[in-house]
Amino acid sequence: KKLGIALVGLGGYSSGQLAPALQETKNCYLAGIVTGTPSKAESWSQKYNIPEKNIYNYSNFDSIAKNPDIDIVYVVLPVSMHKEYTIRAAKAGKHVICEKPMALNAGECREMIAACKQAGKMLSIGYRLHFEPHTLEVMRLAKEKPYGKITSIDTANGFTYRGDPKSWRLKKALSGGGALMDMGIYTIQGSRYATGLEPLFVTATEEKTNRELFKEVDETIHYKLEFPGGIVANGKSSYNENVGFLKIHAEKGDYGLQPAFGYGGIQGETPAGVMDFPQINQQAFQMDDFALCVSNKRMTRVAGEEGLRDMQIIDAIYRSIASGNRERIV
Ligand code: NAD
Repeated sequence: KKLGIALVGLGGYSSGQLAPALQETKNCYLAGIVTGTPSKAESWSQKYNIPEKNIYNYSNFDSIAKNPDIDIVYVVLPVSMHKEYTIRAAKAGKHVICEKPMALNAGECREMIAACKQAGKMLSIGYRLHFEPHTLEVMRLAKEKPYGKITSIDTANGFTYRGDPKSWRLKKALSGGGALMDMGIYTIQGSRYATGLEPLFVTATEEKTNRELFKEVDETIHYKLEFPGGIVANGKSSYNENVGFLKIHAEKGDYGLQPAFGYGGIQGETPAGVMDFPQINQQAFQMDDFALCVSNKRMTRVAGEEGLRDMQIIDAIYRSIASGNRERIV
């Protein structure tokens, strides 16, 4: 049986990526929507053939509990709303996918994990790259180390922010932070899957050129993560530069990905040459895998704990910027 997914929040990512991907999925389909905008309910209902009974708003959302068409709720809202809607969905008896960054801080992530556990529902984070072939190759290289010991990592992710100056992304209460939360999280993920290790300490600094636009949130952050065995990852997140790479330095040569973190067009190179893997629809693979996990009662590879890990690191990066010190991560 194809499982029914309801998207909560019909903004850029839902309309541009997730809904189109759900036209390609084999194990799940777009069964419902949750939106506060009646005109979107109308247009989505027509475009994707969604019946009236599967359309919810933020006030009647909890009655989704009674709807057998919806197996999975996918939270695609501003970060400050992730915790509330993940917990409400779990309490309504639904499995949950929540977008990255998982929540405003690690404490919220723990509450979300506990609520899903208590409800007996699975929780997954929208880490689409865990299904991307070039990325999976980097994970394999971390395990098998054909180029010898990994010594360090350089990674950066960002774009030049030209979006709405009133966007939730620039309001700290709604986003929890700026480019680090939005883009830097991919470099933190990258450093973790490229080493297969968890960092212990971090030192970070912040840089700001546009104090007006980025009044409340970080524009550019440089950080250094210290992993066990002396491996260091130098990372950068930015709302002031179009950039996205993950470079791994190993004893017998360097390898990595560039572009490393986009929806498509990921390219990789190793000392053996250019990686030859297909481009896939990452979101379709991600949602299909979660649907299979739910159906087969198998653990997802991108569970809530994976989101919590990244938030613990992000929390420590912000602590380091505030204190000016090297900070222990947990
Ligand atoms: P967006 O601004 O385009 O959409 C946000 C949606 O939330 C809108 O439909 C908006 O109407 C709704 N909303 C409800 N209450 C709101 C409020 N109080 N303030 C503002 N909006 C409110 O954002 P997006 O780009 O779709 O991002 C949504 C989530 O998806 C974020 O967590 C983001 O990090 C994540 N995302 C993930 C990826 C990825 O590659 N995994 C890509 C883009 C976005």
